[in-house]
Amino acid sequence: MPDLAERLAAVRADIVDAARAAGRSEDELTTIVVTKFHPAELVRELHALGVRDVGENRHQEAAAKASDLADLDDLTWHFIGQLQSNKARQVRRYSHIVHSVDRPALVDALARRESDPDGETVDVFLQLNLTDDPGRGGVAPAGLEALAEHALAAPGIRVRGVMAVAPLGEEPRAAFARVRQASDRLRSLAPDATAISAGMSGDFREAILEGATHLRIGTAITGSRPAPR
Ligand SMILES: *Cc1c(COP(=O)(O)O)cnc(C)c1O
Repeated sequence: MPDLAERLAAVRADIVDAARAAGRSEDELTTIVVTKFHPAELVRELHALGVRDVGENRHQEAAAKASDLADLDDLTWHFIGQLQSNKARQVRRYSHIVHSVDRPALVDALARRESDPDGETVDVFLQLNLTDDPGRGGVAPAGLEALAEHALAAPGIRVRGVMAVAPLGEEPRAAFARVRQASDRLRSLAPDATAISAGMSGDFREAILEGATHLRIGTAITGSRPAPR
């Protein structure tokens, strides 16, 4: 079994290769190591190996880890899971970037309150649902513009770009091509919202070919996940 440092180095090398194959610079890419279900200690090991971006998908677990690791103040916490509006304020406290904004109510819950005009800005990705199953996270692609307009008008929200998970049963490159088209539409409303959060352990190469800027990679780096607690 290769260890964590070896897996991290192998994935980093694959990312460099994929960026070259796409004619892109790896400097355009942010690799977020998805540490869900793993203990805080693993995040600490990753930090020692130079990782500065980590992704979590469940509020309670993420909040506990962020608090345990508060001494690592150069970590950026990315929240990548489905988010209930009533948890949004709490998630905002430790997450720098929320990748799963998919409805106006969640935008409103994350937005800066009038009672706290100096509150920090939170970065968000607008998540697309590329499946026909409305139970999956994400806004249907046809609803992207309306959601974007809502988010762009909300105080304390900075729209960074679009996020998506490639659906099972579709060739990932084709799915990511649809994400790229959605990104183009978003940029016509918000020229600065150029980021694309796409690509996981099994499909980050295809995502890089279609313009992804933020890769969310779990098991290829961490090894298999423990069962959720
Ligand atoms: C778990 C998860 C990932 C990472 O998946 P791996 O296949 O382990 O790389 C990426 N994105 C989201 C939204 C996830 O929930």
